[in-house]
Amino acid sequence: MTEADAAGEFLRVLAQAQRVLEAGFAYLPPAKPEALGQDATRVLKETAERLRDNDPYQHPLYAGQMLKPPHPIARAAYALAMQLNPNNHALDGGRASSAMEMEAVAAVARMFGWSEHLGHLTSGGTFANLEALWVAGLLAPGLAIAASDQAHYTHARISAVLGLRFVPIATDARGRMDLIALEAALATGQIGTVVATLGTTALGAVDPLDRILELRSRYPFRVHGDAAYGGYFTLAANLEAETRAALDAAVETDSLVIDPHKHGLQPYGCGCVLFRDPGMGRFYRHDSPYTYFTSEELHLGEISLECSRPGAAAVALWATQKLLPYERGGEFARGLEAGREAAMELREKLATEGRYLVPTAEPDLDIVCWTATGRTLAESSARARQVFEEARRRDLYLALAELPARMFPAGSWPVEPRPGETVTCLRSVLMKPEHKAWLDEIWSRLCSAANAVLAP
Ligand SMILES: *Cc1c(COP(=O)(O)O)cnc(C)c1O
Repeated sequence: MTEADAAGEFLRVLAQAQRVLEAGFAYLPPAKPEALGQDATRVLKETAERLRDNDPYQHPLYAGQMLKPPHPIARAAYALAMQLNPNNHALDGGRASSAMEMEAVAAVARMFGWSEHLGHLTSGGTFANLEALWVAGLLAPGLAIAASDQAHYTHARISAVLGLRFVPIATDARGRMDLIALEAALATGQIGTVVATLGTTALGAVDPLDRILELRSRYPFRVHGDAAYGGYFTLAANLEAETRAALDAAVETDSLVIDPHKHGLQPYGCGCVLFRDPGMGRFYRHDSPYTYFTSEELHLGEISLECSRPGAAAVALWATQKLLPYERGGEFARGLEAGREAAMELREKLATEGRYLVPTAEPDLDIVCWTATGRTLAESSARARQVFEEARRRDLYLALAELPARMFPAGSWPVEPRPGETVTCLRSVLMKPEHKAWLDEIWSRLCSAANAVLAP
């Protein structure tokens, strides 16, 4: 199927579904529909032209940042819901989409082994983490939030917003939270909540959640799992044993965050927060002066910090789950496994190529980082940036990341890096299921880019 055929089919299927939706409101007297006239057509074409000033995020040769195109079912379901533009702040604003949100969120919770939970969708991982840490702070007033120095940068900010002290915990050479450093922090008695990152944003490293939880036999603390990036990998069958054990332990955390808009094939505006104890709903109680409460049922506006939320995001997630259920061995899981295979394959090629340095640790998920060989860190960094630019000239889109030099094997540079020194790396997030099939093409363009700037 060509791209034009796929676009035509998309609009045909969407139009059919729109007629089904409209038929449900046929009891109403007809109201004049707002049509797109000549002026709108012109404006929309101009819009398309403006949008061309983007890297091709939708294409497999875009293998840089965490950008994954939504599945067509998600785009179509979102567009369909736009006919009504439901607001999931309350049942009044989005009855069907609220029910769909509850079902979709329950499916996410079940994926982690939770049969009971309290949770809802958010605008993204940041807001979902904010809610989880807000509740954590209310349960342990005056105590600090601890997260690794590779945790998402927003945890420190969120702690500041909540008026909680933030304690960064050192990571090991693999980019995972260091348990000795964590235990030292816990021993101060000042830590109320530990954030375990299941898939760090730079490296995709998975903190040893199972072993973090074991420390609760000696110290009292709450555990929040930030699985915004890596959570869906719990469905993948090709993980290393330690990664598997960490993700399996998610069932024992107090709260979890996952981003359907990262690996769940959703448009932006779709994060998810889950609490293991449904009783956490008590913290959200509010007395709205507005008449949101036409129903006796508990509604999502009563268990969410945000008021207006897009019902369409819930509809898109629900439809995607219907088509691609969260099952081990299913099509959705195979897409994640393909990305991980591509990452392992790319790392192997980089490690044996001769002109690159790869970190000591293999990727836990589907993110690969590497730098160029050099006499100094500065030379490696400069070469990595050159390869990045040359790759772009060949329509291969990578990203850059600054990593601690200690993540690379001893002897990578003539002078051993000092603690705290960093090196600029190329970074590739191989999160599209198609990346595996495109790996040879990606590799050949990368070789061509390297030949332009690195000595053979
Ligand atoms: C992306 C990410 C976040 C932030 O989520 P947004 O959806 O960008 O707000 C938080 N934590 C981790 C581990 C992430 O990867």
